[in-house]
Amino acid sequence: MAQTWGLDFSQIPSWEATNEFIRRHELHSMKAQQKFLIEAWGGVERRLRREIKRRTRISPFLLGASVLRTDEFVHRRYEEMSKALYARPGEQVGVDPWRDLESSARMSLARAVDAFNFLEDTELAEVAHQHAHKVAALVGGVFGCDIKYSEDTYWDTCPISLMHRRWGMSVGFTATRRCSLCGEDLDLCEHLLGTLYEVKIQRTDDGTCNACGHHSCSHIDGDIASVYPHAVKGDLQVHEISWVSRPRDPLARFTRVEFDPQILAHSLGKEPDGRDVRCYRCLHPCESFTTLQE
Ligand SMILES: [Zn+2]
Ligand SMILES: [Zn+2]
Ligand SMILES: [Zn+2]
Ligand SMILES: [Zn+2]
Repeated sequence: MAQTWGLDFSQIPSWEATNEFIRRHELHSMKAQQKFLIEAWGGVERRLRREIKRRTRISPFLLGASVLRTDEFVHRRYEEMSKALYARPGEQVGVDPWRDLESSARMSLARAVDAFNFLEDTELAEVAHQHAHKVAALVGGVFGCDIKYSEDTYWDTCPISLMHRRWGMSVGFTATRRCSLCGEDLDLCEHLLGTLYEVKIQRTDDGTCNACGHHSCSHIDGDIASVYPHAVKGDLQVHEISWVSRPRDPLARFTRVEFDPQILAHSLGKEPDGRDVRCYRCLHPCESFTTLQE
């Protein structure tokens, strides 16, 4: 997370620091680790919320004092950053820093997991793996991670836990590539990729622009624009869907997995009975990957 919004992160534990503590104090059992981790991360949320409040609400009669110039500066910068991120020019928006911070953090985690899925067979795999753990611990420690209950079932949706299940879905399909300008097979028509053609802008029934292929763009219907032809996928034919350890699309992975109710009850020490259960696995040291038995 490069975006720290001027907040002080030095007081926040890190995945490396808690791992080091667990190793040094030989906390082998899950119970002992969890007790320590809850303690280590406890209070971080409260501290951060207080810090944000302090920066977003500065008492007006203090603003003149020179000692507070830095605070005033940080406060302004903070406001500008939050506006720049979420508002269009001239638009007034109510800023909810905590919610914005949380959604940025969860987004960072999702991207870190995506990065690992793409890099798993490269020399960067271990770096991406460690990075995902670090982000997951921060997100889980500050904003929490829940084991979700719906349809009478507990679901594992923890991004770092799902990342450690190394299999996904592979869809075998063929598709013809059609020319965006004339609709014919791209390999057979007269248009050449990389050559500009003048076209009259028109949108299909679903709003796709014929010039750029996007739904929302600056092209205006009826105008003439110079565009490059591009490939449009047509006639998609799905031949098979299978579970594989290396899906052709690295992002074709589970988004939730059913929890074995007995294992859950055992680790909680009681039946969860439909109430929300907090996941702490993202704070723990790595428990290695599970792979598909092929
Ligand atoms: Zn989790
Ligand atoms: Zn064409
Ligand atoms: Zn367009
Ligand atoms: Zn791991």
